[in-house]
Formats: sequence, C-alpha cells, structure tokens
Amino acid sequence: MANTADTIAFREIAHPAPTSDADRAVVLANPGFGTAFTDHMVSVDWTEGKGWHDATIGPRGPIMLDPAAAVLHYAQEIFEGLKAYRHPDGTTALFRPEANARRFNASADRLAMPNLPEELFLGAIEALLAKDGGWIPEGAGASLYLRPFMFANEAFLGVRPAKQYKFLLIASPAGNYFKSGAPAVSIWVSSDYTRAAPGGTGAAKCGGNYAASLVPQAAAIERGFDQVVFLDAVERKWIEELGGMNLFFVFDDGRVITPPLSGTILPGITRDSLLELLREEGLDVAEERYSIADWEADAKSGKLVECFACGTAAVVTPVGRVAGRDLDFTIGTGGPGQLTGKVKDKLTGIQRGEIADSHGWVKRFD
Ligand SMILES: *Cc1c(COP(=O)(O)O)cnc(C)c1O
Repeated sequence: MANTADTIAFREIAHPAPTSDADRAVVLANPGFGTAFTDHMVSVDWTEGKGWHDATIGPRGPIMLDPAAAVLHYAQEIFEGLKAYRHPDGTTALFRPEANARRFNASADRLAMPNLPEELFLGAIEALLAKDGGWIPEGAGASLYLRPFMFANEAFLGVRPAKQYKFLLIASPAGNYFKSGAPAVSIWVSSDYTRAAPGGTGAAKCGGNYAASLVPQAAAIERGFDQVVFLDAVERKWIEELGGMNLFFVFDDGRVITPPLSGTILPGITRDSLLELLREEGLDVAEERYSIADWEADAKSGKLVECFACGTAAVVTPVGRVAGRDLDFTIGTGGPGQLTGKVKDKLTGIQRGEIADSHGWVKRFD
C-alpha cells in the first residue's frame, strides 16, 4: 500500500502542541485499552451530490455537531477496528486492512450509508500512521488500535437516510484487552436478551448493536463473569457469539467448529483467518450450528476439550467457565488449551512479523 496516500490528498492541519516524547513514553509504557489517544485524526466529509470531500489530517480533538445531527437520534453509525504493529525490522504492519475496508462498506450498505472507496480507507490509515507511527507501543500484546468510523451528521429530524456524513479515523495505543490478563475468561449465557435477530443488523459493525448489548454485558459482569454469550433470537438455543467476539469449539477427535455466518453473526476477520490456519493444521474444521445443550453435555462428557473467543481486540482468548440460568460448567481444565495456544501463537506471530506470512495478509510499509 506504498502509494495510496500519494494518490489522495489529505490537507494537513498543523498540530499546535503535539505530545512530547517524554509524555508519550509514559503513555506507551502502560497504554491500557481505549483510554489513551494519539495526537492526530483523519476526517473526510460526504455530502449528497458531491461525494467525499475535504479530506484532512490534523489534531485530534472535539468535533462540532448540530444537536439535530441524525446520528444522535437514529443511530446511523458504523465502525471498524484494526491494529498496527511494529515489526522486528522496524517496519509498520497492518493485518488484512482490505478486509476491514470491505466490511466497512458492507456495514455502510446495511445502514443506508455511502460507501467509502477502499483506497480512501487505506490511505487514511497510512496518512495517520505517517504522523502517529511513534505511538505504536512495543512489547507482548501491544499495538496501535485503529478506529475508523462514519456517522450521519446532517441536521434533520425526519426518518430517512441522511444526506451528509463524516468519516473519522482515530488511534489508541493498546496493551492487553483483558485487564486481568487472565489465562481464560468466564462467560455468562444470556437468557433474557439477544444480540441480533434474522433480518436485523447483526452482521453489520454498528454502534447500535453494542448499545443493545450493554445491559446483558453489565449483568454478566455483575454476576462475576467476564463476558456475555448470546443465543439465537428465534429458538434461543444456538450459540451465536459474544458481544464483540466470535467463538470456536474444539473436540477430542480433532474436530473444530464455529457458528456459521447466518446474518446474525459479525463476520470476524480473526474468525476467517483462524478458519484458514486451523485447516492448515490438518484439522476437520466446519462452520456449523452448536446448541447450548450440546455445549454443556460435551463439556461435561469431555468430548469438548477447548473453546476460545476471537476478535481483533482480544485476539484469541480461551473460555474456561460457562454459566447461565440452570447451568454451570468448565471446559477442559478451565485454563488455556493446547490448540488455542497454538493458533494464537501462529496468528499473533504472523501479525507481529515473527512468523512468515504465506497468505498475503500482512501489509507493511516503512
Ligand atoms: C468486531 C467484532 C467481532 C470480531 O471481528 P474481527 O474482525 O475479528 O475483529 C466479532 N463480533 C462482533 C460483534 C464485532 O463487532
């Protein structure tokens, strides 16, 4: 992606007071997740009849919004999440950013929003990294988390797709996603709430899905669990995914399954990459429905030996304990399983430039 930024002109707005090297070093030594931000952001506007215009890169800061901006009323908003890594040779690398660009447009289609050209999506990332590349933390599990997003900023209270949008890209240095750094997470099965219904927005990466997941997620935390898992909205028996991560199940005969993309599950890029890596391990891998009753029975009989959640933020996270109304069980030893560790190391090794990338997944630039 060497030349993408050259072909799109991002007007530069000078930063009046960028963070000093010393202050930045303090942040990067302990970045946390989602609380610290880099100095710059990219902004591009879209107006009906005019298309994308006014691409800028400048200081990150508050934005002006009319109180009638459509996003504040009807939630026309989508986002993406991907990470930039500092490779051992000093280059900056992204993992499958074109897949994020494509998914961003799939989400835009579902939310009746304009598509963002893939070159603009990738060019924005490259422009931001050119400015804020010094914010990529180094060390195990560390990366610069990139958050591209788009929302309707037209001032209009009628209900129809807006005629004006803003695309922004911000970045946040990130350490490990789970604060505890726990070897395995515990999961609460929600019986009162669902995440997505057939025909709904479950396959789109939109803020509205997350808003709807906050109450069940908070209920899981209140019970002492790390995450909530959602069942399908129709039969309330098929396992779908966590609030922001896909799930895999590993059996004692070497078979691995993950729920199929039915339209109610977010098509994770980590999920897709792991399907490929697991197949390369010679395993029998399938996208197949799996019921909560089987999950419990198989964990108790020992047929299910490992389970893990995956996504860009937390990468690969073993699931140790699962509980819900009338059920409570442990998977395997309750700690990280062997295959989980193996595919996690493989994936993160490729992302971090420590293992050769035979898939063309890694995009590097200086
Ligand atoms: C982003 C997301 C995922 C994970 O997708 P990745 O591309 O692997 O980061 C899974 N589920 C939901 C609901 C998500 O929003």
